Amino acid sequence: MKKPPIIWLNVAFFTITFITAITLVPWYGFEVGYDANLWIAFIACMFYSGMSITAGYHRLWAHKAYQAHPILEVIYALGGAFSVQNSALHWSSDHRLHHGKVDDIEHDPYAATRGFWFSHIGWMLREHQGDTYSNYNNVRDLQKNKIVMWQHKNYLLLTIATNLLIPLCIGIVTGDFIAALLLCGLLRLVLSQHFTFFINSLAHIWGTRPYTETNTARDNGFLALLTYGEGYHNFHHIFASDYRNGIQWWHYDPTKWMIKSFSYVGLTSNLKVTPDERIEKAKATTLFAKTKSCLANSANMQEQMDRLQTEYDVLINKLQHYYKVRKRLIEMQKQKMLKQCERSALMQQYTELKEAWQIQNQVWLKFNESVLKLPAN
Ligand SMILES: [Zn+2]
Ligand SMILES: [Zn+2]
Repeated sequence: MKKPPIIWLNVAFFTITFITAITLVPWYGFEVGYDANLWIAFIACMFYSGMSITAGYHRLWAHKAYQAHPILEVIYALGGAFSVQNSALHWSSDHRLHHGKVDDIEHDPYAATRGFWFSHIGWMLREHQGDTYSNYNNVRDLQKNKIVMWQHKNYLLLTIATNLLIPLCIGIVTGDFIAALLLCGLLRLVLSQHFTFFINSLAHIWGTRPYTETNTARDNGFLALLTYGEGYHNFHHIFASDYRNGIQWWHYDPTKWMIKSFSYVGLTSNLKVTPDERIEKAKATTLFAKTKSCLANSANMQEQMDRLQTEYDVLINKLQHYYKVRKRLIEMQKQKMLKQCERSALMQQYTELKEAWQIQNQVWLKFNESVLKLPAN
């Protein structure tokens, strides 16, 4: 098949910025040096660039996982231009295609099934999208957003302005304009771009798949460190409208923490959260499918297969029962209609059901573990 034409502007941009970053930045460091204030400014710029993409482009505009105050939207729009990752409108359109057609080598713009290089950067180096490049049918909602459209129409100007003015201001404050341009301009740009690109490449190759094995997306705690929490990509692909990517409190997801913190001061609202029951069910169903396929490859495993099905059915039944009562209890607490006697009876039922579900979960996990350890025939 004939390859689409090369986009020389993109090739030149990525090559020049990368080569100058790995040569000029260390050279200036050895010759002149960077002081501590510049490193602090560099880290601040990394977070501003990166989180304008993760909290703004990704979770707010592409997925509508929450709502943001217009002031915050303007801050994201400027930070997105600072990151040089195309306009929010275009980025969101590509990203919605990625979710809708994930891994489809024809329609997913950065399909991981086409390899690391393609999903990381190769997809931007040739005219792979052809005539559909400016098709914004899947972002009609965003075309009604004045801030998104203002950024889209003035993208080039905003990109040049932010990439010159922000380092210039830092240079004035720290007294070293060249150092500010090298660290907060160049190095920050190259690193923040490649860290975002890792979500399309590495987060579809390296990690675990606890919530679904129907696509290549992976959960990877290490990548979360580089991507402001977006490394929990397996969870994200199945529950894309959740404002969180790392759902445990100890998961490193600064984007989630920032969105939540802003909600206390009215800058964000309507934060969408996936019900725990759906998450637990997804985990059990994924493990069920995995163990089932493992058993299918083994001979004389009908007994184990039957047990697997039974344990799974019991688990789902207990899980549904537990969450049903839990939901009722929360509703009652909300409405303050909890009469004392009813409450204690329900509380007891709640505790028993929770225990029963947890015990079954242990049995379930142990059983799966024992089956998965068996040597395949
Ligand atoms: Zn993805
Ligand atoms: Zn997404």
